[in-house]
Amino acid sequence: MVAKAVAVLNGETVKGTVFFCQENPKAPVKITGEITGLGQGLHGFHVHEFGDNTNGCISAGAHFNPHGKDHAGPKDTDRHVGDLGNVEAGSNGVAKINIEDSIISLEGDHNIVGKQKTIMFHL
Ligand SMILES: [Zn+2]
Repeated sequence: MVAKAVAVLNGETVKGTVFFCQENPKAPVKITGEITGLGQGLHGFHVHEFGDNTNGCISAGAHFNPHGKDHAGPKDTDRHVGDLGNVEAGSNGVAKINIEDSIISLEGDHNIVGKQKTIMFHL
């Protein structure tokens, strides 16, 4: 069964939509979308453990890390499940997202769309 999720970002300046699609529970998750209103350059893109986004990174908790591993990059095998690396915005403030990730999932214990998760872009 194909699993799909969508994250809508609607901040004061940063807006965008990120789509997650997984063909089956063993397949990588394809992440696509576009974020606008960012400063030029790299922005961390992580899944945090709590769904409370009212106070930014504080209320959202730590990176989603069910196995107690160290923070790392998306290509490292030892990493937080929520470590998706960076997205890069151009001089127009737009970041196009096109990532495939084999660690996160849309079901099971690596599920990033559970009720207590937040998709967060660090500005
Ligand atoms: Zn991390």
